[in-house]
Amino acid sequence: MNQIMNARQKVVEKGVQILETSLTVGTWGNISCRIPSEDCFAITPSGMNYETLKPEDVVIVDFNGKILNGTRKPSIELPLHLAIYHARQDIQAIIHTHSAYATAMATARKGIPGAVEDLVQIVGGDVRVNEYALPGTPQLGINTVKALEGRNAVLLANHGMLGVGKDLDEALRVCQVVEKSAKIILFARLMGGAIELSQEDITGMRNFYLNDYGQK
Ligand code: 13P
Ligand code: ZN
Repeated sequence: MNQIMNARQKVVEKGVQILETSLTVGTWGNISCRIPSEDCFAITPSGMNYETLKPEDVVIVDFNGKILNGTRKPSIELPLHLAIYHARQDIQAIIHTHSAYATAMATARKGIPGAVEDLVQIVGGDVRVNEYALPGTPQLGINTVKALEGRNAVLLANHGMLGVGKDLDEALRVCQVVEKSAKIILFARLMGGAIELSQEDITGMRNFYLNDYGQK
């Protein structure tokens, strides 16, 4: 039970952080994290203000989408989060945002190339755009899982972006780095274009990030 309260509290904190760091505005976006000991996950309720969200507003759901605890209606993107958790056992947390520069690229349906070092380290390469599907639909989950393959981020066509990670902190960092990278690519293109990194360098930096970077 402690793990559930813990997860709910962390989801609430990340909601405030995506708002404070301008990764979203209003009530858009949604956040979830696995609770491995209970075989379920915690997900934000639909359309509620992040600033006043309480841990008990966060909904606890099993991997069939059944609500186990909570009185609120879960995010309309529950099918999207479920599809990702089913497809990717390595993913512990998901943050979906509507940040401006990432959404500009997603609206132009242009992926973010693997041209920025922190991006390829944390995401694993370029960031693809999924095939368009309406929000809240199972098709959005199918299209997103496909475009997310082998990566920790994806652009949602005409919608926003989604970052994943080994925990909520990493998923938030992914969202921040993707947003910054989208901005960098737009500016680089104003100056004649971005030079992509080689696959060899991308693989090397990804391995460095996973195995050596930081206080290991
Ligand atoms: P929810 O508030 O239901 O999570 O919906 C917001 C959103 O971003 C839908 O894509
Ligand atoms: Zn959205």
